[in-house]
Amino acid sequence: MTTLTIATDYLIVGSGAVGMAFADVIFHETTARMVIVDRHHGPGGHWNDAYPFVRLHQPSAYYGVNSKPLGTNSKDKTGLNVGMYERATSADLVSYYEQLMQKFVASGRVQYFPMSDYVGDWNGDHRFHSMMSGKETQVTVAKKIVDTTHLNTAVPSTHPPKYEMAEGVRCVPLNDLPRIKPASSGYVVVGAGKTGVDACLWLLENGTQPDAITWIMPRDSWFQNRAKVQPGKEFFEASYGSFAEQMEIIAGATSSEDVYAKLEAGGHWLRLDKTVQPSMYHGALMSQPELELLFTIKNVVRLGRIQRIERDQIVLAKGVVPTDANRLYVDCSASAVQFHARTDSTPVFSGNKITPQFVRTFQPTFSAAFIAHVELNFESEDQKNNLCGAVPMPDKPVDWLRMHAANLRNQYRWSKDKGLRTWNAKSRLDGFTALAMSTKPWQLARISLLRRYGMSAGPAAVNLKKLLA
Ligand SMILES: Cc1cc2nc3c(=O)[nH]c(=O)nc-3n(C[C@H](O)[C@H](O)[C@H](O)COP(=O)(O)OP(=O)(O)OC[C@H]3O[C@@H](n4cnc5c(N)ncnc54)[C@H](O)[C@@H]3O)c2cc1C
Repeated sequence: MTTLTIATDYLIVGSGAVGMAFADVIFHETTARMVIVDRHHGPGGHWNDAYPFVRLHQPSAYYGVNSKPLGTNSKDKTGLNVGMYERATSADLVSYYEQLMQKFVASGRVQYFPMSDYVGDWNGDHRFHSMMSGKETQVTVAKKIVDTTHLNTAVPSTHPPKYEMAEGVRCVPLNDLPRIKPASSGYVVVGAGKTGVDACLWLLENGTQPDAITWIMPRDSWFQNRAKVQPGKEFFEASYGSFAEQMEIIAGATSSEDVYAKLEAGGHWLRLDKTVQPSMYHGALMSQPELELLFTIKNVVRLGRIQRIERDQIVLAKGVVPTDANRLYVDCSASAVQFHARTDSTPVFSGNKITPQFVRTFQPTFSAAFIAHVELNFESEDQKNNLCGAVPMPDKPVDWLRMHAANLRNQYRWSKDKGLRTWNAKSRLDGFTALAMSTKPWQLARISLLRRYGMSAGPAAVNLKKLLA
């Protein structure tokens, strides 16, 4: 096999949302060279594999990369997100990243290798193979290797279900829903995370009767209310009001259960059934109209995970339910974030390797851009890691508290650095700092909200230690 050798400053493995947000900062804040390698045929990562009706669950306004707006910053006039800021589709996202990659490559500073698998040791031996020709390329890296594969996002079309199925059982990933014949005996949606919710909403919005849907819900989830994370001045009171109230709730809570109850009472968190205490929290966002539509599904099976689907029954961890051989199973059981990414303690900066992770709650793209900026502007590894403490991905409701403890720690450290404060205020991926800074001295109600937030952050950080102890 012939081995070609190329040289670069940064070698970025993965051209998903994280790799692109990182590369964008390096591209615009330096003259460094980059090599970007990805197994996919084009940039955008898992958005290339997404189901056709997927949308971001957050507004497009603060997703993507810093240098390029995503969407038109308009609000939906109809539908389940009415009155709130637009959310990109997977087609929008793939096209956005494609345009950006073209700009990178046209500059002559970036070399892009799609359909290529990194097979190096993440240390000093950097190599990738073309998945088409098998040809190997060796990369000499002058500065850093950037591993954006850490979150290892999984989607149903690339991760087949783990349960067994009898011969003849029809099970599809939700990608197939729009292109197959409607199921005559109804649907069984397997999974209650963001993709399970999307499958149910798609079926209902497209005319499926609620009683034709059975929803397998191994765990109930808390959802964040999307109305409370809207950018734009007209949402200042809703968003900053929510941030302030959440800090006050943490600061005054007597237990984690007390936190959840108050978050729900304040309209910050939503759940599908008030009689069931959710045991999952993955940070998915939901609108009130979406929740109300989901309430119409009454056949909800809460018997744990599916073990086996037979022609006449579904065998779950805690029981069995009858079924009918003609039902269509819609698999939504892939967990978007892999377990290791929730639990391990890989530092963001380690020698010549950067492993982008969340440094702000639920902001993968802001986090990647911020990490790139820190890489360029701070000298010592300790200093960089101190500013980029990983905010753990949540799985259970209590992880919301852990996440906020890490988030507050980072925020406090950033607040001490004028350069970072200024950079954050200019970053389009930071949906809220600029909004806060645009407050005028005569906007007393807004100033009062910002004060409430600022004054409760310290007590919240102290109480989080007690709540988590
Ligand atoms: C349905 C859904 C909706 C979501 N909505 C939002 C949202 O609204 N807001 C939000 O912030 N987040 C959202 N997310 C989370 C989302 O995962 C992140 O926003 C982001 O897309 C993750 O990007 P990534 O670059 O980390 O991962 P990926 O998109 O998985 O990209 C990683 C890339 O690395 C490549 N790769 C892996 N190993 C190798 C290797 N050895 N060699 C070469 N290439 C390799 C892969 O091919 C892939 O292209 C959503 C996720 C899902 C599943």
